[in-house]
Amino acid sequence: MEALIRTGLAQLGQAGRVPEDAPALLARYGALLLEKNRVMNLTAITQPQDVATLHMLDCATLLDCARFEGKTLIDVGTGAGFPGLPLKVLAPSLEVTLLDSLSKRVDWLSQTIGALGLEGIRAVHGRAEEAGRDPAFRERFDFAAARAVADLRLLCELCLPFLKVGGRFLAMKGTDCGDEVDKALPAIQVLGGRLEGRIDRLIPHTGVTHRVILVEKISPTPEKYPRRWAKMQKAPL
Ligand code: SAM
Repeated sequence: MEALIRTGLAQLGQAGRVPEDAPALLARYGALLLEKNRVMNLTAITQPQDVATLHMLDCATLLDCARFEGKTLIDVGTGAGFPGLPLKVLAPSLEVTLLDSLSKRVDWLSQTIGALGLEGIRAVHGRAEEAGRDPAFRERFDFAAARAVADLRLLCELCLPFLKVGGRFLAMKGTDCGDEVDKALPAIQVLGGRLEGRIDRLIPHTGVTHRVILVEKISPTPEKYPRRWAKMQKAPL
């Protein structure tokens, strides 16, 4: 895994920009993930080379989508830590909150953060629609990120409340997300956002291209959002 990650980072133009020990640390994280995955459902990806590419390098493609140095980021529906944990390793001055509603995954993440010796990163157990109403989390972050959690309309309601005005939401999607983005435009506006751009990136060592949807927060999210999950699903914005 380490060699694939190192050469992949070079292909992404990140060699020399990320810490020297980042490939080794990400490979160690990948090994811990695969080991635990034998007894706990953490990922459908089970081959080390795929963990290196489709998890670690996929997350690394975010690096040139924003300036993360010294900023704060919440990873909503982080699962086994993607994309927040690789981003922390690759941009160590970024302060990261990993949020997930499954406590077993959050417990494993807390142990893994300790095992990797990382500081300035925490794993929090909770539902995004509840944390987004909590003053300790609401409008506190420079960035929110999410991969493989929900349709963009719902995801914007889950993620935009966490952002400070001027902050950005990075939604990791496939390249077939055109309709999904179009349908999310009213929600983005209502929640205080503005669609800023779409960035396509080829994941090194694969033929797979993913798309990052960038949403800038330009005004505070109205008090009544996020709504309860059932309500969001029943009446998406
Ligand atoms: N982001 C990770 C990735 O790309 O590998 C995990 C994706 S997994 C398919 C979706 C995760 O989102 C699950 O771990 C689930 O528990 C979490 N999740 C779903 N809805 C959530 C919510 N409303 N609040 C917090 N976490 C949520």
